[in-house]
Amino acid sequence: MKKSIALLLALLLMTAVLAGCGGNSGKLTMATNAAFEPYEYYENEKIVGIDAEIAEKIADKLGLELEIRDMEFNSILGAVQTGTVDMGMAGMTVDEERLKSVNFSDTYANGIQVIIVREDSDIKSADDLKDKQIGVQDATTGDVFATDDFGDDHVKRYSKGSDAVLALKNGTIDAVIIDNEPAKAFVRANEGLKIVETEYANEEYAIAVSKDNDELLEKINKALKELKEDGTIQEIIDKYIPPEGK
Ligand code: GLN
Repeated sequence: MKKSIALLLALLLMTAVLAGCGGNSGKLTMATNAAFEPYEYYENEKIVGIDAEIAEKIADKLGLELEIRDMEFNSILGAVQTGTVDMGMAGMTVDEERLKSVNFSDTYANGIQVIIVREDSDIKSADDLKDKQIGVQDATTGDVFATDDFGDDHVKRYSKGSDAVLALKNGTIDAVIIDNEPAKAFVRANEGLKIVETEYANEEYAIAVSKDNDELLEKINKALKELKEDGTIQEIIDKYIPPEGK
């Protein structure tokens, strides 16, 4: 009798330890904002995109099941910091301010901030943005740069990039600063818009992890390294952003 109780306790303990490995119950939870094609967006009610696919591969390597939680972009870091989710992956740029609250994995992609304007606009570069109204997605690096460079009075914040783009079409604002690949998708989907040729800022995307979870950060970095080395990440990126001339 005693023996079987001891055995039961041991089994319970083992299950608890195993479950503890991946955060909670065999799952890898990821916070994102699924309005950011081609990194994360809905296709037939499913979240797809570069980040979603890379995350899936990381979860596979960790022996965990990926669960994606869609939320506002400005809620992602808080969710990571408080441990509500295991990681944040949202075309998120590594930046000094964010590094104060979370850790970032090694980078897996590059991003460029660009300026979208109406086709008939006289805005040719960032210098022409003075005195204009600039739309951004709230709490993104586009928001931070625009606010630093042009002042709070010139920046209008939207919870989604698509809302900023709509305001640009309507004439409420004069330009939108946003990452280049989503910018291309917005311009494709909306007539009468174009991307200004000069780039606004160059940045690197990485995965945000809680400062209290170095173990997970290490595992993610190891998985990313393997996925880079065997070409998987490039393959996923090329699938969503076909290389030019191919
Ligand atoms: N790369 C930008 C940032 O990290 C935008 C990300 C996003 O809107 N999903 O702030």
